[in-house]
Amino acid sequence: MKVRTEMNLVKLVERFRGEDACRAYLEELRWPGEAGVECPRCGGNTISRIRERNQFDCDSCRYQFSVTAGTIFHDTHLSLWKWFAAVYLIVESKKGISAKQMERTLGTTYRTAWHLNHRIRAALKEVDAQLLKGIVEADETFVGGKAEDMGRGYRGNKTVVVGAFQRDGAIRLQVVRGRDRETLQGFIRENVAGGVEAIYTDEWEAYKGIADSDTKHETVNHSEKEYVRGDVHTNSMENVWSLLKRSIIGSYHQVSAKHLDAYLDELEFRFNNRENPYMFRDAMLKLLLAETLPYAKLTAEPAS
Ligand SMILES: [Zn+2]
Repeated sequence: MKVRTEMNLVKLVERFRGEDACRAYLEELRWPGEAGVECPRCGGNTISRIRERNQFDCDSCRYQFSVTAGTIFHDTHLSLWKWFAAVYLIVESKKGISAKQMERTLGTTYRTAWHLNHRIRAALKEVDAQLLKGIVEADETFVGGKAEDMGRGYRGNKTVVVGAFQRDGAIRLQVVRGRDRETLQGFIRENVAGGVEAIYTDEWEAYKGIADSDTKHETVNHSEKEYVRGDVHTNSMENVWSLLKRSIIGSYHQVSAKHLDAYLDELEFRFNNRENPYMFRDAMLKLLLAETLPYAKLTAEPAS
């Protein structure tokens, strides 16, 4: 389906090329109600503007604050416009954008681009995600390392990623420590509603026993070259793996296991908003509401 998004590069530049426009937009997103600007300290709505300093002054408690106070955008030397552009680049590019590419496109240092990338990713992470329903495909794959074609049993230095896909709905992806029954079924129980109609997997034995009285479990036997049997297949999950691997090869070159989970969150956000025309706005909203993440918490080792 072709979705007409409300944002494109030209609109982004026309609308936000300037700090005042960015601030006005954040103000709308942060205080959307009739009451308007609200004091973060006392909740008061009688506010005076101090235009020359881009600040608000609360008439009740005299607290002075800006639209970015207490948000990810505060205490950053980067212009709001560059934050906006970075969010746009991340959410609108199907395969994501590497820190190297971000550095070139925004004209920042590599360290800044890397930092931006990671902070935005962390903010896009789904919290309290809804459980998947209906018909759900589940599958796992190996990411990273070399030796692509060593067969299913070979792990080497690869990382295991497990995923679940609600047909015509959302995906959930996660790095896991192995592909044993406890791990894979644990992931399914955490992400899939009890009593869904069906779970489709391949024949891998760790999935055996996931069915119960109101959920059927159907498998296709990939080792016997059976990929589709009627409605039963894991092709949607396979498509996600191929997107993931093309992204990693194409724009990331390599993602260390440490950062893979954050990258999966980013991919999840893009994928789950693939039909949302307001993806940019919703991403900005998530950034506004996100907890601020200190640089030290990310890592001292810049990687892709
Ligand atoms: Zn106040």
